[in-house]
Amino acid sequence: MEFVSKRLESLHPYVPGEQPTDRVYIKLNANENPYPPHPSVTEAVGAALAASPEKLGLYPDPDVTELRAEIARMLNTTGGVLCRASCGRDGCSPSPEDALGFEITPDMIFCGNGSDEVLSFVFYSFFDSDRPVVFPEHTYSFYPVYCGYYDIPMERVPLNSDWTLDTGTMLSKAKASGSGIIFANPNAPTGLALSRAEVARILESAPEGKVVVVDEAYCDFGGESCLPLLKEHKNLVIVRTFSKSLSFAGMRLGYIVANPELVQAVFCVKNSFNHFPVDFLAKTAAIASCRAAPYYAENARKIVTERESLTAFLRDRGWFVIDSKTNFVFAKKDGMGGRAVYEKVRDAGILIRHFATPGIEDFVRISIGSHEQMDALKKAMSF
Ligand SMILES: *Cc1c(COP(=O)(O)O)cnc(C)c1O
Repeated sequence: MEFVSKRLESLHPYVPGEQPTDRVYIKLNANENPYPPHPSVTEAVGAALAASPEKLGLYPDPDVTELRAEIARMLNTTGGVLCRASCGRDGCSPSPEDALGFEITPDMIFCGNGSDEVLSFVFYSFFDSDRPVVFPEHTYSFYPVYCGYYDIPMERVPLNSDWTLDTGTMLSKAKASGSGIIFANPNAPTGLALSRAEVARILESAPEGKVVVVDEAYCDFGGESCLPLLKEHKNLVIVRTFSKSLSFAGMRLGYIVANPELVQAVFCVKNSFNHFPVDFLAKTAAIASCRAAPYYAENARKIVTERESLTAFLRDRGWFVIDSKTNFVFAKKDGMGGRAVYEKVRDAGILIRHFATPGIEDFVRISIGSHEQMDALKKAMSF
């Protein structure tokens, strides 16, 4: 192609779930949160703009100091799994199984413009071109895109036949080439989660001097967070996002929790690319969101309830549904291709996600919406 770089010619961009503008659909295709932000979030943005409109003309804090302290506080009080945190008017406390056992400090947090950007910095910071990064064959499909972007070779390990991660093979591949590892936990698009003990075993036998990255985008819906493992494991990088459990996909805020030396490495990458990925409004809204954790915990519990209800509904009708610890389910029905299911449901005015990827093309991924949205979906899927 004329004009463009050689690098550009070899890019294979990620394709997100459709965001249609032609017709109003019930959107269950991008794992967005069906509930609006807490009123204090929009109020905080309005108040900040009214009080200091000049802030829109000034560069924001490149270190997002205040927000990092607020995120640390949210994690310390919820344990990183909102649907299990017990929250009252005075704030939250983790359920005993999510107790951290140490304090997360602001210097363990890095914030970026959505976790997609944060992940991009992570790939650049920790994975080299001289050896492959190891990840499951079916996982967040942005990982291979970053590998292409940064010219990092990849070693994709097929899932076990029950759709769980083949952690043994992932480890032996990583050891053979001295590689880093990345996976989503709970995984996408399967929705299955590894226990914290299983992740600890990976951290213990992963190659020296290489990181293990755990993408906890969906952890608030019932996985086991690896946050407690940060105390013992210097090679652990946890990536999390406000998009799913904190109703923030339109604002863009993702973050890392890791030991301070690793966080500093990512700051170095960020400052070589864009000093200010978190703008004044996103920062203001994000701080208010952290303070409204009890509201988002309640929403996470509603989503879990709807997820279990949809799972039972589909299984009753002969669907194969993978046990989900996320805000979506991954399901298929014998004799029906995933594409056909997607089209039937779309014709009823509801968008779900179908991946044409070989191996999972029979499945559809359905995001969990509100009770009313799930009622409409169940009607549309009564075939
Ligand atoms: C949604 C998602 C992300 C991206 O989140 P953003 O913060 O909106 O960029 C990252 N990882 C996984 C596994 C996701 O599902």
